[in-house]
Amino acid sequence: MACVSYPYAAPVSQTLFDRAAVVTPGGVNSPVRAFRAVGGTPRFMVSGAGPYLTDADGREYVDLVCSWGPMILGHSHPEVTAAVQAAVARGTSFGTPGEGEVELAEEIVGRVGPVEQVRLVSSGTEATMSAIRLARGFTGRAKVIKFAGCYHGHVDALLASAGSGVATFGLPDTPGVTGAQAGETVVLPYNDLEAVRQAFAAHPGEIACVITEASPGNMGVVPPLPGFNAGLKQLCAENGALYVSDEVMTGFRVSRAGWYGLDGVEPDLMTFGKVMGGGFPAAAFGGRADVMARLAPAGPVYQAGTLSGNPVATAAGVAQLRLLDDAAYEKVDAFSERLRSLVTEALAKEGVEHRLQVAGNMFSVFFTGADVTDYEKAKAQEAFRFTAFFHSMLAQGVYLPPSAFESWFVSTAHDDRALERVAAALPGAARAAAEATE
Ligand SMILES: *Cc1c(COP(=O)(O)O)cnc(C)c1O
Repeated sequence: MACVSYPYAAPVSQTLFDRAAVVTPGGVNSPVRAFRAVGGTPRFMVSGAGPYLTDADGREYVDLVCSWGPMILGHSHPEVTAAVQAAVARGTSFGTPGEGEVELAEEIVGRVGPVEQVRLVSSGTEATMSAIRLARGFTGRAKVIKFAGCYHGHVDALLASAGSGVATFGLPDTPGVTGAQAGETVVLPYNDLEAVRQAFAAHPGEIACVITEASPGNMGVVPPLPGFNAGLKQLCAENGALYVSDEVMTGFRVSRAGWYGLDGVEPDLMTFGKVMGGGFPAAAFGGRADVMARLAPAGPVYQAGTLSGNPVATAAGVAQLRLLDDAAYEKVDAFSERLRSLVTEALAKEGVEHRLQVAGNMFSVFFTGADVTDYEKAKAQEAFRFTAFFHSMLAQGVYLPPSAFESWFVSTAHDDRALERVAAALPGAARAAAEATE
């Protein structure tokens, strides 16, 4: 851990964190929130408005996390809030079908060509878990290929060499996942088609699917090299396996149709979450009609959920997606581009070696002199420089993801004023990164 002094105190957050630690393991309900990768006191947020968050100590931050992606219209967007309030007033859960589910499913099917049918669930983890089960049920095969550094939620079979919190903590594996569960998972280096070819050759007729992040954002942003996704699709087709594209992060964020909208490679199955829930727990998996037809009650592969298609969550998701037109994506892309050039400029000025890697409007900074194309290269960065950079930005009122292995996210609400505040903070943070020692 780098030797960093935390530039200011957050006494109310600290008190809440102390209380939380008594009743919740590590004081948080999702590991990266605990700030362990960067040290210091996690900020307990009490409100959000547009591009800003306010913490329990009354400090305001420009939010460059956006709840890890979902808040693409900014916080407390008036139209999403109104849709949620109207839905709540009608009742919050019926355990029956409802029109909101149909609207959300139609919105997804209408945007993403390869999705002919979709099933709604409550988290991205549930979506990938169910997609894997369906791929196994459809093919009658057991093995799954995944890539090191790709995170697909905390699904047992997929928690081998995963990114996100697992990347942050450098856990090689996790206790509680049995050898049998992980043993059917073949983990390969990202962006290495030859390794995929060899894995298919080594396990003929055994591989149910290849699952990949459409463009990985959970080891930092590491986009697929040209032809990688198309190559995966082709190898799957040649070998009778399904190509499963995890768009939980990129879906409806990097374009109207997510990463599929940018690279056009047609997956057999896709998973979604984050943006489609409008800040509520809504996620989905979908794809080819003949594959989805295997799902209960249409087919034999079981999957269910008490709160699946919840009326409040679907109302939020529908409202958010309907506001995400071409103009909205242009706005998010443009802000991301302006922000990226400011970050590069500030770091270059201080002579800090870095790579700013981009996937649509998602990006992250790697403190390294080499392009990052896989998890090994991502881990080789000087993460201690990020720690210093992060704390300087935080002290100056800019909230970055508290880990060097996460994407930064912006929204349509980020405007000139927000950009100016980030610009004012960057020189000091770049200096802190330059001066940081391991
Ligand atoms: C966030 C994420 C998940 C998990 O979604 P949860 O809603 O946190 O369970 C899965 N896959 C990818 C690519 C993600 O970014």
